[in-house]
Amino acid sequence: METERLVIKFGGVSLKDYKRLKNTAEIIKKNNDKELVVVISAIGESTNELIKSANKALNGNIDYKSIKDIHIIICEKLNVDFNKLTILFNELENSLLKIKKSGEIKPMDTDLIMSYGERLSIIVLSEYLNNIGINAKSVNSWELGFITNSNFLNAEILPESSELIKDNLNELLSKKIIPIITGFIAKDKLGNITTLGRGGSDLSASYIASSINANKVVLWKDVDGILSSNPKLIDNTVKLDEISFREASEMAFFGAEILHPQSLFPVIGKNISVEIRNFLKHENKGTMIVDKLKENNLNKIKAISYRKDVTMVQIRSNRMLGNFGFLSKVFKVFNDLEISVDMIATSEVSISLTLDESHDIEKLKENLNDFAIVKVSNNNSIVSLIGNTQKSTKIFKHAFEILNEFKIDVKMVSYGASNVNICFIVKSIELEKTVNVLHVGLIESEGLTC
Ligand code: ASP
Ligand code: MG
Repeated sequence: METERLVIKFGGVSLKDYKRLKNTAEIIKKNNDKELVVVISAIGESTNELIKSANKALNGNIDYKSIKDIHIIICEKLNVDFNKLTILFNELENSLLKIKKSGEIKPMDTDLIMSYGERLSIIVLSEYLNNIGINAKSVNSWELGFITNSNFLNAEILPESSELIKDNLNELLSKKIIPIITGFIAKDKLGNITTLGRGGSDLSASYIASSINANKVVLWKDVDGILSSNPKLIDNTVKLDEISFREASEMAFFGAEILHPQSLFPVIGKNISVEIRNFLKHENKGTMIVDKLKENNLNKIKAISYRKDVTMVQIRSNRMLGNFGFLSKVFKVFNDLEISVDMIATSEVSISLTLDESHDIEKLKENLNDFAIVKVSNNNSIVSLIGNTQKSTKIFKHAFEILNEFKIDVKMVSYGASNVNICFIVKSIELEKTVNVLHVGLIESEGLTC
């Protein structure tokens, strides 16, 4: 049998003190029989602290003591030679001095400053692993070939990276070396350091997994996995054992803050599963995100997500009937104002849609008033039932019986765009009640088999 290829990623909370770093090393050791690639974030809150240091430098104050101290303590406790980090701390100081001198922080500067977090953490972990007899090597992502565009703070990985990453990692793996790789950071074609957006090490890990054709990505986090709803709103949420990529993507969109929004794209459709596991309870199973669900997970509503604070806009054509091109006129306005739309429902002469409350609604109204009558309603929320929604009639029946029983009015419905969700709009003051009663009725106890 071929050796399993595994990419594992540890976030900042898994590295925040020496005990957790030992735990991280323990997990790595346990998986040492596999072809293992490790991606890590910065230690603890380093990224936030580095941003603070940059702001202090702008005000003339060079202070990165909190970051240095945490690294000193960890090195001491783990018997890692702190001198291995000296060059990077000197570089950090120089970068901060540059900000102080120039009196400005450009996005490119922020990326450079943030990069020190991951560049430091890979050295600490790989040195410690070497101390305990594990053959690990710290690797900056750009040494593997992570190349991005120059969209600082939120850069996109360029497709040519994949081949380079594959070749470089295959070489390390064939020598039985465990690479400890910086998540989150990369370089553009000119050699400037870039970042993939906050929380971006999930994306680094899945991109690597897709490049080397790994069997699985494990993201170690401080949560049990993906839950059936937001525990801040619902008492009896359940941890989902298994969820499909499409279901997970819908959840990410609706604000399940567990994953970097783009992190699933590289592995979808490639037979690479993504597992989210709790670092603090590492014997427990987490949530598996897969291309193909097991039979017993196929026919269920699995989760209820929501999005608060949406505005509903009703747009009715002011010419009497079927105005040819009405839809395209409406969308041209949205396009010109760069407003993105979430939900849509249409009839012959009118269209209802929802947007984020943050958009400039007055401007939108002004532009639409030329050819339409516009009605705006605020303080709404989108509720989304996520799972297999192909047997929609049955789901609608159950859901609407519950909503009727609790006298909750639905203002708009959307179904048909995908087979994994049904969305509707309720007033925000009814949101908590809505999600609760639906969660009890469709997910808790037996749940609804559809
Ligand atoms: N260290 C980075 C951040 O805090 C990247 C990550 O944690 O994934 O955003
Ligand atoms: Mg982090």
